[in-house]
Amino acid sequence: MNSTEITAAEKPANFIRNIVIDDLQSGKHDLIVTRFPPEPNGYLHIGHAKSICLNFGLARDFQGRCHLRFDDTNPAKEEVEYEESIRDSVKWLGFDWGEHMYYASDYFERLFQYALDLIRAGKAYVDSLSAEEMRAYRGTLTEPGKESPYRTRAVEENLDLFQRMKDGDFPDGAHVLRAKIDMNSPNLNMRDPVIYRIKRVEHHRTGAVWCIYPMYDYAHCISDAIEGITHSVCTLEFEDHRPLYDWVLDQLDVPCHPRQIEFARLNLSYTVMSKRKLLELVQEKLVDGWDDPRMPTLVGLRRRGYTPESIRNFCETIGVGKSDSWIDMSLLEESVREDLNVRAPRAMAVLRPLKVVIEGYPEGETEEFEAANHPNDPTMGVRKVPFCREVYIERDDFMEEPVKGFFRLAPGQEVRLRYAYLVRCTEVIKDDQGEVVEVRCSYDPASRGGSAPDGRKVKGTIHWVSARHAVEAEVRVYDRLFTTSNPGNGDYRTVLNPNSKETLTAYLEPSLAQAEKESRFQFERLGYFYADLVDSRPGAPVFNRTATLRDSWGKGQQ
Ligand code: ATP
Ligand code: MG
Repeated sequence: MNSTEITAAEKPANFIRNIVIDDLQSGKHDLIVTRFPPEPNGYLHIGHAKSICLNFGLARDFQGRCHLRFDDTNPAKEEVEYEESIRDSVKWLGFDWGEHMYYASDYFERLFQYALDLIRAGKAYVDSLSAEEMRAYRGTLTEPGKESPYRTRAVEENLDLFQRMKDGDFPDGAHVLRAKIDMNSPNLNMRDPVIYRIKRVEHHRTGAVWCIYPMYDYAHCISDAIEGITHSVCTLEFEDHRPLYDWVLDQLDVPCHPRQIEFARLNLSYTVMSKRKLLELVQEKLVDGWDDPRMPTLVGLRRRGYTPESIRNFCETIGVGKSDSWIDMSLLEESVREDLNVRAPRAMAVLRPLKVVIEGYPEGETEEFEAANHPNDPTMGVRKVPFCREVYIERDDFMEEPVKGFFRLAPGQEVRLRYAYLVRCTEVIKDDQGEVVEVRCSYDPASRGGSAPDGRKVKGTIHWVSARHAVEAEVRVYDRLFTTSNPGNGDYRTVLNPNSKETLTAYLEPSLAQAEKESRFQFERLGYFYADLVDSRPGAPVFNRTATLRDSWGKGQQ
């Protein structure tokens, strides 16, 4: 690749992109190969999206490739359901691995052969200490470790024992295979780490073929090398594992030696991202499943109404760095607002209805007003909104005793029904409990379209839906799942937001009746809404609130 092609990939710089550019320019690599290596033990979340956008984004921008590799070395935990959802989510985000989908378990035989090579080279040994003894021998950050009495086993004996471990001659925990590195290393990962353990558990892909399984640190670097990965990008907690990554590859005759590069993981406020906690939320039915729109999972964000573009933009905005930091949830919310503001057609819906009767307006008459689908994008066209004598307005657009600065509907006060008429409140009707159940208004027939004929000032404009034409629909108003910014700090169950989901029966303008699944709208003055993937269908729409129009968190607004 020449340098013009490289600079043509115009994206915000980050230190990993710079490394890749250098490696292409210096000729170290002609083709860059990255990978996204999820463990199929949970659904992908917004943190994974950062890694996906980074790895697949590098491949896309530099005409390389990115592998999807299931890191399925731990047989007890993996499930096929997770694999499918991981594939779906990566595709949904807009990335494609082409033919390059792999499984670490496909390399079990080769990993075993490499382990034999290590043993033959005197670089690995079978240890028979108990787990407890091994822990005691390991030392601490301040004290060196102690060598196991089995460390000096002869190569032949090691080969024989390792083969018998594989053949199933021993129970779980009887022996392990360890790399022979340095029990005095200041880096605990280098103190003869375990690289194989006995685990008599069937694997969902290899069945009962194996009863020994490789450890992550051993399997991962070799998997990278087998696949010809050039840049093995991972999160910062693996920085201390890099010497081991390099050590393993240095001992073996592997096809290449990828470079491990660490970056800071995404930490997002007002949510939890640990797979264990997400699983608990699902299992304890604190949410309605992995794809609950309040979950930070990609399937959840999708059902919340997030677009793949908004998530990719978010990942680009937060950048890629070397130091751990927290990103505020409002930034993620802002990214979807920004995207939907441009692309979502406008419509009117009333979530908490109050009936308004426009006296003087002929009964049985219907008028249609033309409304622009987007204020700044004429190409999105117009639609007709029907109007009649009875309309619904939002309950909180009326105040019987208006506070100062309240310019919406109140006794004696005039307000603009968007696109329609100016109306003035003449009467308030209450039920036995004193609750306002209906408001009566006069209207100015000369204000058709919503402008005052004499130029008089009418400050308030509110949305409405014609009562006769309204489409009744379920609308779920979602909010943040937690009330504190770091719910993972302590028991997150105690800081669940009791108001994170409210299910309403709303009235929609009739044009929304046929909304397709996954279509998105801005309900004027209310926020962005998404026709639910699972529950909505044309003719029977169900909407989820994606976001409010602006960040109102903690300000006591809906
Ligand atoms: P576990 O600790 O259970 O292994 P994990 O978050 O590491 O969970 P993986 O499936 O192993 O889950 O992750 C796949 C890839 O996604 C890894 O390369 C990991 O570094 C990356 N990743 C996971 N969480 C984040 C995050 N919050 N920010 C950025 N990258 C992440
Ligand atoms: Mg992991």
